[in-house]
Amino acid sequence: MLILTSQVLGPGIRRQRAHMRQPVKSTLEAGETEHRERDKSCLWKVGAHVSAAGGVENAVLNAAAIGANAFALFLKSQRKWSSPALSSESISLFKSRLQEYDYSSKVVLPHGSYLINLGNPDPGSNGPSEKRHKSYECFLDDLRRCELLGLELYNFHPGSTVGAISTQECISLIAECINRAHKETKFVTTVIENMAGAGNVIGSDFAHLGAIIEKVENKSRVGVCLDTCHMFAAGYDIRTSEGWQTMLKGFDEQVGLSYLRGMHLNDSKADLGSKRDRHDNIGLGFLGIRTFRHILSDDRVQGIPLILETQDFEQPKEVWGTEIQTLQQLSKISDNELSETKERDLANSIRDAIKSVGGATNKKPRTVKAARQRKGKGPETDGEEEE
Ligand SMILES: [Zn+2]
Ligand SMILES: [Zn+2]
Repeated sequence: MLILTSQVLGPGIRRQRAHMRQPVKSTLEAGETEHRERDKSCLWKVGAHVSAAGGVENAVLNAAAIGANAFALFLKSQRKWSSPALSSESISLFKSRLQEYDYSSKVVLPHGSYLINLGNPDPGSNGPSEKRHKSYECFLDDLRRCELLGLELYNFHPGSTVGAISTQECISLIAECINRAHKETKFVTTVIENMAGAGNVIGSDFAHLGAIIEKVENKSRVGVCLDTCHMFAAGYDIRTSEGWQTMLKGFDEQVGLSYLRGMHLNDSKADLGSKRDRHDNIGLGFLGIRTFRHILSDDRVQGIPLILETQDFEQPKEVWGTEIQTLQQLSKISDNELSETKERDLANSIRDAIKSVGGATNKKPRTVKAARQRKGKGPETDGEEEE
């Protein structure tokens, strides 16, 4: 509804909402599009993985609508090997909207297809590297889409051994693909995501990420995206300020802080070290509100995209809008001011936003993944990681 209105009437006539928690209107009046207020002064660039349904250009409108200062998107269907090329109209609209809404390419972090496994050793029937070849082509196609859109970052999952090779062999295959892709493209930076560590997946240990980067020839075009849910599931306990500092120190030693190009901000439905990739809404999982205060007060993660991959219950403006607002609030208060009561209040504001749109926060959202797959919308907020 919002998207259609924006497309028809143009974004110039949007109006900002003074009251954040008003109920969402299902239809908009003519000449009107509503946006969450956007706090451009916040030094931490918080946003969400928004829908690009109907064209990548719509992702910019969807980001603006929730008051995001950064955003992620899929550049094509995340579940298909090949998709139609980006149209020249989509490309020019995407670029003009980035300008119009004041998003620099540094805060846009596209997410790669879930099918890609650059580490697949592939005993396929059509030759020894059939599956990796397919993954590589899909990866390269994504990178070219980034460059067509003028985007400088591209986030992807490193890959999996599929139980057939060693971690070291898999790491070499991944680095080989990155090196090849750098030669076949011009400027986009390949941003490797840390993983929760299920099955044979590479990247739950920072040492894996460091080892891949070590083998990358053009180090100016490789980076890392740290997912809070994944790192917690992998055993990095960032719930205390000391834990956060220790994690980043370890990251700096094993990878290097200069490679940190983005973060995914997700709470976790699974406990520390579970190796389970189960995203929860901010403040409602095992991590809790206070964890995010460590992030939203650390100047080392200022300016990079901080992306929510939480469930939006089909009402991104209410749910993600509230999560963004809450996270930005955390950047403005001191540790002393974050009492247990305040912490509870902030978590409750997110819980209330979810309830207000009919979402349940105490049940396993089994149906959401299926719904997203049907619609080809935003990221999967539950079990993103696959072998
Ligand atoms: Zn991911
Ligand atoms: Zn993620």
